[in-house]
Amino acid sequence: MATSALTEKLSRLAKELRGQARITEANVQDMLREVRLALLEADVALPVVRDFIARVKDKAMGQEVLGSLSPGQALVGIVNRELAATMGEGVSDINLAAQPPAVILMAGLQGAGKTTTTAKLAKYLIEKRKKKVLTVSGDVYRPAAIEQLKTVTGQAGAEWFPSSPEQKPVDIARAAVDFARRQYFDVLLVDTAGRLAVDEAMMREIRELHAALNPVETLFVVDAMQGQDAINTAKAFKEALPLTGIILTKMDGDSRGGAALSVRQVTGAPIKFAGVSEKIDGLEVFDAERHAGRILGMGDIVALVEQVTAGVDVQAAQRLAAKVKTGEFDLNDFLAQIQQMKQMGGLSSLMEKLPAQMTAKAGNVDMAKAERDIRRKEGIINSMTPLERRKPELIKATRKRRIATGAGVQVQEVNRLLNEFEQMQGMMKKMKGGGLMKMMKRMGG
Ligand code: GDP
Repeated sequence: MATSALTEKLSRLAKELRGQARITEANVQDMLREVRLALLEADVALPVVRDFIARVKDKAMGQEVLGSLSPGQALVGIVNRELAATMGEGVSDINLAAQPPAVILMAGLQGAGKTTTTAKLAKYLIEKRKKKVLTVSGDVYRPAAIEQLKTVTGQAGAEWFPSSPEQKPVDIARAAVDFARRQYFDVLLVDTAGRLAVDEAMMREIRELHAALNPVETLFVVDAMQGQDAINTAKAFKEALPLTGIILTKMDGDSRGGAALSVRQVTGAPIKFAGVSEKIDGLEVFDAERHAGRILGMGDIVALVEQVTAGVDVQAAQRLAAKVKTGEFDLNDFLAQIQQMKQMGGLSSLMEKLPAQMTAKAGNVDMAKAERDIRRKEGIINSMTPLERRKPELIKATRKRRIATGAGVQVQEVNRLLNEFEQMQGMMKKMKGGGLMKMMKRMGG
């Protein structure tokens, strides 16, 4: 997958740079080239990539490398933070501060997902903001679009205001505002007609609608899979309308999400939501930091590295590696590992920080169950004597029963643990420490 390619390349470069205390002009060039490629692969538009790289370079030059992080990781950190900052700080919620009804105008190309998103937003406002919501369609060119809005509005539990192809969009919108005011609706969502490509007639029409409605939010709905093209669409809409926010749809597709960066940069408007499925509840509040991780395909790997390196006592790790090498790895070490993992916040906290692709693979693992299993194992090992932990092969049936009672588990569980441990020991002997050390080096720099 293209995703982790960047992380891999950067960590290879990072290795070469180990020992250098600063990020310098010379060593940063190679890394920036990789970042540039990753952004292009993620479908970020070229001018946006250039700007971005220039900013990262500014920030990176001469930066002291913090603590145990190598220059490579420090740069990955800068890239990640700058990506998140470019896409917006924190979470930007929908603005409803207007004399009711608060009018929200939905703009975007045909097929971008406006109608679907209108209904998703209606559901969000009803459930999360406890609002009374009305929708209306100004798409007088496609009667099917009006019907579609009716259907999805019903699914959202909102109300729908009828319109027909004989009417003018501005008249429809005015009538809907009037109705909403009289019926005490808090919010009116106005779906509009799109075209397959930007054209002047569409822009004029939506400008007129905007002038007539004076909406509190003018949201630009854009398909994340549009990739590089998103930048041109965004430019055209920004010139036509004072956009107040962006909704990126189809983020569940296989796009790498670069459109977010381009669209945000071109419009200057905050990205408010992300569409993540065709279903009515497939709308998420946009989280810039998480998305930055997605673009670089590295999850919160920098944070993970920091956490892991902070939690690991290097000498202890070396001792452990030596033990593995000589086949001395015993249940005491196993217990120490379990405890270290607990210190780092447990399995699920580590999982959250991994790239999406990795967690997707582990998607059907029940985290809570895995953590319970580990706690039980800990209990079992705790019930053994130090000698038994060192030499589990000495544990006889009577002792197994005794250990099981001590840990409050069945004897079978003690047997299972001992079997697992035996297998693990066999595997570790095969690795002779090399694999483990390599793994730790990769994590640490
Ligand atoms: P409009 O022409 O802008 O109103 O677009 P529609 O709302 O009709 O959406 C076009 C297509 O995209 C439909 O098939 C939707 O189901 C689909 N769609 C919209 N948003 C999403 C999304 O977030 N994820 C996925 N997978 N499909 C979406």
